[in-house]
Amino acid sequence: MDTVFYAELSWPEVEARIAAGAPVFLPLGATEQHGRHMALNVDVVLPTAIAARAAARVGGLVLPAVAYGNRSQPRTGGGPGFPGTLNLRADTFAMIVRDVICDLHRQGARRIVTLNGHYENIGPTIEGIELALDAIGRDRTADLIILRIDHWELIRPETLDRIFPEGYPGIELEHASVIETSMMMALRPDLVDLSRAAHDGPARFRPYDRYPRPCDEVPPSGVLSLTAGSTAEKGEWLLADCEAGIVQIIHREFS
Ligand code: ZN
Ligand code: MN
Repeated sequence: MDTVFYAELSWPEVEARIAAGAPVFLPLGATEQHGRHMALNVDVVLPTAIAARAAARVGGLVLPAVAYGNRSQPRTGGGPGFPGTLNLRADTFAMIVRDVICDLHRQGARRIVTLNGHYENIGPTIEGIELALDAIGRDRTADLIILRIDHWELIRPETLDRIFPEGYPGIELEHASVIETSMMMALRPDLVDLSRAAHDGPARFRPYDRYPRPCDEVPPSGVLSLTAGSTAEKGEWLLADCEAGIVQIIHREFS
């Protein structure tokens, strides 16, 4: 079968491709509000699509995404105050990462790439990888390489300058904003309706956290920065950076 999607293959095909050294991508996402103008699955669609583009160029496989993310935070994802967002606890998320890596390793995979689309997954992914290394045995991991990538880190500064001539607000505030909206317009225009975008941002957060969370800090739309200026063309620039960045990393780390 001519597909990069692991779960669309039969077991002998997966067995053969892993034995041949195919890098295995694990997209890490979330089911989380992304404003009034986008679907809840943005953090799943983006890393899955980026992984698929990169995998097609490096002979890789893309696992089914983890579609639930670690607890959404007001300052990076809008937080729990929005209907629709479903959260995993950090330990649950870390255990999923750990178990998938351990089982891939048991089946012979030695080149594993976690590709993250949800900011709050960073910490629990690191923990999940560490727990996997503990479980496999640190003395048995000489031939194992696990890469942890956040797709937004691969956007080149030149591209950010082109998209944000007035200055980049920073990835935390980019939730449901120009970067995510543009990439979704390029990949899944059917899941974006810019006419529903409310321009009530950007969020003005305190430079610290307070619990219980104050409810006045997240713009009511759920968009933390601005949506205005999003285009499918900008989305393609961003996706091209992410794809090229991953291909470069794979060649550097796995050859
Ligand atoms: Zn997102
Ligand atoms: Mn998110």
